[in-house]
Amino acid sequence: MVIKMAKNTDNKRIAVKHVRDKAKAAYEKSDHCCICGTSQDLELHHTHSITILLNNWAHLKGYDISTDDGILAVRDEFIEAHHKELYDDVFTLCNPHHVKLHSIYGKAPSASSAPKQAIWIARQKAKLEGNDVPTKNLGTFSSFY
Ligand SMILES: [Zn+2]
Ligand SMILES: [Zn+2]
Repeated sequence: MVIKMAKNTDNKRIAVKHVRDKAKAAYEKSDHCCICGTSQDLELHHTHSITILLNNWAHLKGYDISTDDGILAVRDEFIEAHHKELYDDVFTLCNPHHVKLHSIYGKAPSASSAPKQAIWIARQKAKLEGNDVPTKNLGTFSSFY
């Protein structure tokens, strides 16, 4: 929904929204959840938090993204510089699986957890398909049931 009247304190969120809106247009969302295959309630998950990437990048560059004009002026540059994170490191997930992932890795997962998230997704998928997956790095709990 449009948040034109939002206060300045909300602008960090709005900045991310501007980036998402633009990036989404170029990204082809898959038509099914990459874990369970449903086509219902699909959402796009970035293993790198766009919020963190954007804020760090703007800080490094010395850009002011606290206003709409500020973020719109540098949005394309941000997207150019983060193609991999925006278009490659993404998963289409159904809402329940997306919520579950964030309940484990947090609202804005740290960059270092990106590989773990990918492994988690692969494991959930394998589980649903009834395949055994290597559990070596994932503790011993699952080998006991
Ligand atoms: Zn799913
Ligand atoms: Zn997500």
